[in-house]
Amino acid sequence: MSALDRRSGLVLDTHELGRRAGALKLVQTTVEAPADLGIEVIGVPKGSPIELDLRLESAVEGVLVTGTAQVELRGECVRCLSAVEDRLEVDLQELYVYPGSEAEEEEASRMVGDLLDLEPVLRDAVVLELPFQPLCRPDCAGLCPECGANLNDDPAHEHAGDNDPRWAALLKFEQGHQQTYDVASNPRNN
Ligand SMILES: [Zn+2]
Ligand SMILES: [Zn+2]
Repeated sequence: MSALDRRSGLVLDTHELGRRAGALKLVQTTVEAPADLGIEVIGVPKGSPIELDLRLESAVEGVLVTGTAQVELRGECVRCLSAVEDRLEVDLQELYVYPGSEAEEEEASRMVGDLLDLEPVLRDAVVLELPFQPLCRPDCAGLCPECGANLNDDPAHEHAGDNDPRWAALLKFEQGHQQTYDVASNPRNN
């Protein structure tokens, strides 16, 4: 396995812990987020703070890491494209086996010397929790399909020809179970 980058905040040194089973080390620290932590529509901005609250425990085969990571999220609402900001806390739990360990679990993470790399585990945990369809708010009205206006700012927005039944059906479909916008009751029609 290639050497780990000690400069990465997500590479933890377990040297102090020693290899006596049962030894415990608590790690509470804030590190910088790596690049590309997320999916296309939402993710953790590179360099943003990740708060780690971890417990490193020596076990027979390796070091068990448990705890939480709090990250900032930034993305885009899939309906209206406005910025979405949020925070996310994920649970982490991983056994990092010692380099010489006979544990042959292919799925297990391996230590490199005294170092362990939290990044792959954090990445899996964060990506699993991300909303695939982030919304600025649950009832976001989205954009006008005709001119792109944000319908959250202007719910009464309409164009001549909006009474086209095909478009009304589409609007209903997109808004799902939410309250549908009733063109007939729009006072601006008068
Ligand atoms: Zn939105
Ligand atoms: Zn429009």
